[in-house]
Amino acid sequence: MYDVNKIREDFPILQREVYGKPLIYFDNGATTQKPRCVVEAITDEYYSVNANVHRGVHFLSQQATDLHEASRETVRKFLNAASTNEIIFTRGTTESINLFVSSFGEEFMREGDEVIISVMEHHSNIVPWQLLAARKGIVLKVIPMNDKGELLLDEYEKLFSERTKIVSITQVSNVLGTVNPVKQMVETAHAHGVPVLVDGAQSVPHMTVDVRDLDADFFAFSGHKIYGPTGVGVLYGKEEWLDKLPPYQGGGEMIQSVTFEKTVFNELPYKFEAGTPDYIGTTSLAKAIDYVSAIGMDNIAAYEHELTEYGMQQLKTIEGMRIFGEAEHKSSVISFLVGNIHHFDMGTLLDRLGIAVRTGHHCAQPLMQRLGIEGTVRASFALYNTKEEIDALVAGIQRVSKMF
Ligand code: PMP
Repeated sequence: MYDVNKIREDFPILQREVYGKPLIYFDNGATTQKPRCVVEAITDEYYSVNANVHRGVHFLSQQATDLHEASRETVRKFLNAASTNEIIFTRGTTESINLFVSSFGEEFMREGDEVIISVMEHHSNIVPWQLLAARKGIVLKVIPMNDKGELLLDEYEKLFSERTKIVSITQVSNVLGTVNPVKQMVETAHAHGVPVLVDGAQSVPHMTVDVRDLDADFFAFSGHKIYGPTGVGVLYGKEEWLDKLPPYQGGGEMIQSVTFEKTVFNELPYKFEAGTPDYIGTTSLAKAIDYVSAIGMDNIAAYEHELTEYGMQQLKTIEGMRIFGEAEHKSSVISFLVGNIHHFDMGTLLDRLGIAVRTGHHCAQPLMQRLGIEGTVRASFALYNTKEEIDALVAGIQRVSKMF
């Protein structure tokens, strides 16, 4: 049995009020709230273990290192990766993608080579490629979508050429909620001999992800979107690929030996982890993963699906409601506009009712251009949201609508 009230007790912030109203937090796509166990893992480690990892012979350093490396194993298991050598800790999805684009682009892409992305990418999976385009003259090709917000797989197939070096796509759109058929898209890419990077920022918190089942070559996600801390994320990469990539940054930790003439790089995964890692962050990320795993990702997915179906149904009863993203496979994100009320006005007035939503372009301006709008209001649900909160959202939107 999924006991949402019991889950809510784990999240102290959900008890607070804003403007004298109980907080209704629907901005989970941007970041999620933290359960007590995650916050306690942070303070516990600072209070009783803190020491820099890897280089110390002393007790605390070894204990901190053990916690840090155990977290890598937690992530490995969670993604079903083959080895902890394939789990690189980063600052988040954005850094994971930048690391990848920089290293892969350096080693494997030349002027005129092509990357395939999609029309629904977050800026984090567009701009790094544009920076590479400016440096090396690579070309971006874009998979289009239909009006429901589903990628056109026939068009995708047509984008491949002998210059295609990489496909880089999101598993779930942060605006439309579309769950892309990534496994099938990986299969297509591999049939053309092309590897795939998957942006998992919006998928990992909401569904079971098995990187080996997807056969993704690379996979990125952020800790803070899955109830973990800010400032830590992951880049998964198949070992055979990571072995071939040059380091991203130079510094401590990523070297085996250094002379002024020559540096020998460390083995995987440390080759990509220059400098002191956020070892407190990795421990608490592991706590967050343990937390969602104990509830069960499939249970979370089923509950959030129910919430989303309910939300779609209820929101559609509102006069003038326009919903963006009606894909058959949809995650717990609902983007909308009502009549000609500006998204910013709607968001500001909902906030006064205690309802936190996101407004704007959601770091997906090319998608906004495709939709012919400037921005949307976005409600994104997490494991602790309820149907009663959705009812309050609907009532809030109706109240705002009446004011206009
Ligand atoms: N990709 C997608 C699909 C996202 O939703 C986000 C966060 N909004 C990112 C990448 C970037 O994540 P972060 O800011 O944690 O690096």
